[in-house]
Amino acid sequence: MEKKELLNTGKAKSVYATDDAEKLIMHFRDDTSAFDGEKIEKLAHKGAVNNQFNAFIMQKLQDAGIETHFEKLLSDDESLVKKLDMLPIECVVRNIAAGSICKRLGVEDGLDLSPPTFEFFLKNDALHDPMINEYHIKSFGWAEPEEVEQMVDLSFRINEILKALFLEGDMLLVDFKLEFGRYDGRLLLGDEFTPDGCRLWDVKTREKLDKDRFRKGLGGVVEAYEEVARRLGMDIHV
Ligand code: ADP
Ligand code: UDP
Repeated sequence: MEKKELLNTGKAKSVYATDDAEKLIMHFRDDTSAFDGEKIEKLAHKGAVNNQFNAFIMQKLQDAGIETHFEKLLSDDESLVKKLDMLPIECVVRNIAAGSICKRLGVEDGLDLSPPTFEFFLKNDALHDPMINEYHIKSFGWAEPEEVEQMVDLSFRINEILKALFLEGDMLLVDFKLEFGRYDGRLLLGDEFTPDGCRLWDVKTREKLDKDRFRKGLGGVVEAYEEVARRLGMDIHV
């Protein structure tokens, strides 16, 4: 697989073309950002940890019948993925209230949400990723009506699979963000699933083991990600 031109440099990953028009190389960098890019730092080994973490989770999801873009690991910090036509939408599932929903709705941090709840956000940095609803998506043509249903259904299925997986490692999956894209007429899970895009708490102490350590300046960010990986039985090389 030959790495060709750089197509896109995002906040945490760089995407490269390959000699196969249907495949991309995703390079997970050490860059970490929060608050719309207001806080940016390089955290040693984060790229490698997240790349291998993402590979493990994507494989678990594929084993459970969820189609994803993930093809294979290429190196410690690079993976080969299917090139998707990404929808400009972020899907968030929440099992416990934390982060923006607490500010937006004035609900208590740590409140159990039963049933889990779901939110759409528009992927638009300039507008600070505003929350949108399914009518906005349909009226503005950001996705087809059946894709809206699929995003909700797939997100809740992924929640059930991953909630159980993290609980086996004594962790609560508080919330997470997913991105989907079109491939060959189907909707596949794209982007990443890592502690950069979810909240994970120790089941007993509720210690934060995710990017909130970075947002809140708690330190030990990559160490926490490695702890999560260890609890899930991953063997990470950095
Ligand atoms: P951001 O700054 O948007 O958070 P990242 O640093 O995560 O971006 O960069 C990854 C970019 O690649 C995102 O724009 C994401 O939507 C896109 N992407 C992820 N997976 C795929 C894929 N399989 N095909 C095409 N684009 C993808
Ligand atoms: N999230 C993300 N990228 C975003 C926005 C949110 O990965 O651009 C994740 C975030 O890490 C958390 C979940 O989605 O796990 C819900 O985030 P929230 O809406 O609470 O926003 P926050 O206050 O974390 O910015």
